[in-house]
Amino acid sequence: MVVERARSLFDAGTTRPLTWRREQLDRLADLVTANTEAIEEALAADLGKSATETYLTEIGVLLEEIRHTRRHLSSWLKPRRVRLPWQYQPAGASLVLEPLGVVLVIAPWNYPVFLLLGPLVGVLAAGNTAVLKPSELVPRTAELLERLVPRYLDGVEVVTGGPERTTELLRERFDHIVFTGSGRVGRIVMAAAAEHLTPVTLELGGKSPAWVDGTTDLAAAARRIAWGKLVNTGQTCVAPDYLLAPPDVARALEPLLAREIRAMYGPDPALSPDYGRIVSARHAARLQQMVDDSVAAGARVVVGGQADPESRYVAPTVLTDVAPDSPVMAEEIFGPVLPIVPVADLDAAIAHVRAGDKPLALYAFTADTTVRDRLVRETSSGAVGLDVPLVHAAVPALPFGGVGPSGMGAYHGEASVRTFSHAKPVVRKPLRPETLGMVRPPFTAARRALA
Ligand code: NAD
Repeated sequence: MVVERARSLFDAGTTRPLTWRREQLDRLADLVTANTEAIEEALAADLGKSATETYLTEIGVLLEEIRHTRRHLSSWLKPRRVRLPWQYQPAGASLVLEPLGVVLVIAPWNYPVFLLLGPLVGVLAAGNTAVLKPSELVPRTAELLERLVPRYLDGVEVVTGGPERTTELLRERFDHIVFTGSGRVGRIVMAAAAEHLTPVTLELGGKSPAWVDGTTDLAAAARRIAWGKLVNTGQTCVAPDYLLAPPDVARALEPLLAREIRAMYGPDPALSPDYGRIVSARHAARLQQMVDDSVAAGARVVVGGQADPESRYVAPTVLTDVAPDSPVMAEEIFGPVLPIVPVADLDAAIAHVRAGDKPLALYAFTADTTVRDRLVRETSSGAVGLDVPLVHAAVPALPFGGVGPSGMGAYHGEASVRTFSHAKPVVRKPLRPETLGMVRPPFTAARRALA
């Protein structure tokens, strides 16, 4: 039913004009600005997130994505001229961006506003209608968006619910699916999409490494790393998952990271208004187990280690002397736990990264340009951050996406408009003069020319 509604609006041609698209983007901006407080309250309830952090990481970045898209949309949509080879002259061609139809957006719980409405910016800008599926693990935010979206937007349906409801939804035919979440569910979504030959954009996760060496300003690097790790209580797909460092650097980082954590959240982060909570007791218990198992396997707690799954609290935790086969290295952490894995040198770090799945991001804190170049050239990842985590994911002019197991396809800004459009070649050739004589039988002239 919801898909039919979205499809009939698309089929009526309502979504094609630039004016409609711009108006939807304006209304999306209105939705967010007029309801900022309600969004902040919902995220405080679901993730214990402070209003300021919600503004910075959900609302501000979304408004920037809308502004950037609104500003450049008409130039992105201009047909691009393509020159044809001399054999076909006189002739011309252009590439026309055509909307796809109804796009399904499935979002995770960690940035439940930005990761649901961020893709929607490109979906609407490209002239599509949409069905949005927020995560059931953030019920307050999902309910709020279910209520607000129909009040502000045309052609956008919201479907709430868990895996069962999503399974039903995936039986329907969409023209594109953009899924953000785990690789496990990404496989389910891609298999369902295959039934209808629906193209997918998969924004997945993984373990994003950060290399730190002795050529950098370690105090400044520790500050950026602690911030990047602990934004959203560590529940960020592009957070530095773990550190790779030579043993002396690993040792030197311990007090520096502890100091930075204290500077951000005080002596007891449980009391800090700026420190959030884990999405569910189950996820908090998983993190606690991960830390305990890693300590049992030989890791040492530098700072933190406390957890209270019932109140969804996990302290900012740094583990060191972490072996590459430690439990904390077995899966994406997705929480406020930072393992330091000492490695002999850069070669060992590169070998470690290459032995695992291609990550969503790779970070390097080093002043050595040869090291930077080697990391960029010799490893593969969705993106690279030199001396800075996370920022690339908030820049609308940079395509955002993974590679291999960290995802396929990219979006944000112009990349979104391209992802949610079909680039259709339109070729024109006047009927006269007739210059195609050579390719039409009898091939007498062509045979002579080719001989
Ligand atoms: P998830 O895969 O469990 O859930 C994502 C969405 O899929 C939710 O809306 C959920 O309702 C739905 N879903 C769950 N089970 C399903 C099923 N069986 N069939 C159909 N749909 C189903 O992911 P999550 O726990 O919400 O998010 C965490 C993961 O997302 C991490 O791996 C993280 O790295 C990744 N992530 C990636 C990005 C990115 O942009 N690349 C951003 C944020 C999170």
